[in-house]
Amino acid sequence: MPEKRRDVISWDEFFMRVAIAAQLRSKDPNTQVGACIADGDHRILSVGYNGTPHAISDDEFPWGASDDPLQDKHSYVVHAEANAVLNYRGSLRDMRGATVYVTLFPCHECAKFLVQVGIGEVVYLDDKYRGTTDNLISQRVFDSCGIRYRQIEPLTHVQ
Ligand SMILES: [Zn+2]
Repeated sequence: MPEKRRDVISWDEFFMRVAIAAQLRSKDPNTQVGACIADGDHRILSVGYNGTPHAISDDEFPWGASDDPLQDKHSYVVHAEANAVLNYRGSLRDMRGATVYVTLFPCHECAKFLVQVGIGEVVYLDDKYRGTTDNLISQRVFDSCGIRYRQIEPLTHVQ
C-alpha cells in the first residue's frame, strides 16, 4: 500500500491561495485584493475581489484617485470582503463564525460588514496601512466585537 501524501498545504494556505487567485481578477492598477470566506467545515462559502459594481463597465470608470469624487475610483469600487459577502447566494446565517481570508487587512467599512454578517475570524496577509486611522478603527471594531484576526506569512510552500 502506498503511503498517503503528508506534505499537503494547510487549510490556511489553501484558502489564502483562493483569495490570491481572486485578487488576480482585480482591474485596480494600484491595489488588488482578494477575499475567500470559509466555514468551520472547511467549505468555501464565497469569494470576491475589489471591483466596480456588476452593471458598471470597468472600462468607463476612473481607476485613479482624485480630489473630485466623481473621478475618484474610491467612489465606485466595491471592496473584496464586501463583494465576497454580497456574492453569497445562500443564507447569511452560514457566515456566522466563518473565517474570511483576505490578502489585505480590512478597511473600517468592510470591518463593519464582516461584523454584521457574523464573521468570527479574519486571516490576512498584507497590512500596508498599519497604524493609519482607518486601520485603527478596523482593529477597534474587531476587538470590540470579539472578532479574532491574525496575520499569516506569505506563502512559501512548494508549488
Ligand atoms: Zn474595505
